[in-house]
Amino acid sequence: MAELTLDGVTKVFTEDDGNEIVAVDEVSVDIQDGEFLVLVGPSGCGKSTTLRMVAGLESITSGEIRLAGNRINDKPPAERDIAMVFQSYALYPHMTVAENMSFGLEESTEMADDEISRIVDETTEMMGISDLRERKPADLSGGQQQRVALGRAIVRDPEAFLMDEPLSNLDAKLRATMRTELQRLQEELGVTTIYVTHDQTEAMTMGDRIAILDGGVLQQVGTPLECYHTPNNEFVAGFIGDPSMNFFEMDVDRNQLLGDLFEYPLTPAQQESVDEAREVTFGIRPEDIDIEVDGTVDSEFEFEVTVDVVEPRGDENTIHLTFDRDVDDPETFTATVSGLRQLQAGDAVVATFPPEAIHLFDVDSGAALH
Ligand code: ATP
Repeated sequence: MAELTLDGVTKVFTEDDGNEIVAVDEVSVDIQDGEFLVLVGPSGCGKSTTLRMVAGLESITSGEIRLAGNRINDKPPAERDIAMVFQSYALYPHMTVAENMSFGLEESTEMADDEISRIVDETTEMMGISDLRERKPADLSGGQQQRVALGRAIVRDPEAFLMDEPLSNLDAKLRATMRTELQRLQEELGVTTIYVTHDQTEAMTMGDRIAILDGGVLQQVGTPLECYHTPNNEFVAGFIGDPSMNFFEMDVDRNQLLGDLFEYPLTPAQQESVDEAREVTFGIRPEDIDIEVDGTVDSEFEFEVTVDVVEPRGDENTIHLTFDRDVDDPETFTATVSGLRQLQAGDAVVATFPPEAIHLFDVDSGAALH
């Protein structure tokens, strides 16, 4: 187990026509000993490339990767003491579960056969797959194959685990079970882990900290709650949270914001932070909006709106709403309300945007204005 450091790590791919693609741009992050860091971002943002550079499967254009303080840029993958778990499991089809797990140890260590057997036994026990030891991968379910792939990483007792979307081939229910199991295992083993996913729910529920990447650039590193409550910028604000934060572009007019759909007062502190800006993006999360059915507009934070669509989600409903002044070309925003609330399309309601729940961003740079 060890601290893993990425220091200004950059990857530039050169295409056949000479075109350069900066897939990973000066990424710096320190993953503490035993920490579970989730690297998350949309498709193509550079997650896999980052992970592959740490594993040694991709060369590094510039920057440095250190494991336990030692530079590993030029070490071959097999000498890095890092185990990688892939989305595709990558099990050997002709080998049994036990053989798949012991193979790496037989190849790379001087360990005696009975020692290897003992470790494989212990690990299959821990993973709940003892009964499957003699089966071949083709005779296993997806979830079982994923356990074998994890078991194979665990028996190596590496300094760090790298996991590239390891649960994405499983159905939703099994994925939820495996998430918890993986977290329990990682905590028990205390192995420094980078876990890649494009799924923000997975990131929010699994990570000690999450690192959010967009266009190869690290946008924020923080605990899930830090990223949720104090996003660095509009991208993070929109990426974290489901349904996504609502955004409205508004002009700054001294002590208030003026938009096509509504006006909103600014506190003195907010006035100071938007001082230089002429336009801002106003953000509010669907779950922070209060909906009153028989209410009246009593403050500057309340608005008359109409229910457009009700989307049931079990214990919660997502409702799509329109501002009443926006009749010609209605632009909807979303709020979440308890599933017990009976609302239907066409209902007139009052929406409150509580001042403590609003986020403001610079329209041009997207940076949060705190
Ligand atoms: P996904 O979630 O879809 O797997 P990702 O975040 O893992 O995406 P990467 O696979 O790391 O993204 O790709 C980052 C960028 O680098 C993309 O623009 C991709 O097209 C580009 N890229 C990746 N590998 C190569 C390569 N071998 N040659 C050229 N460009 C590449």
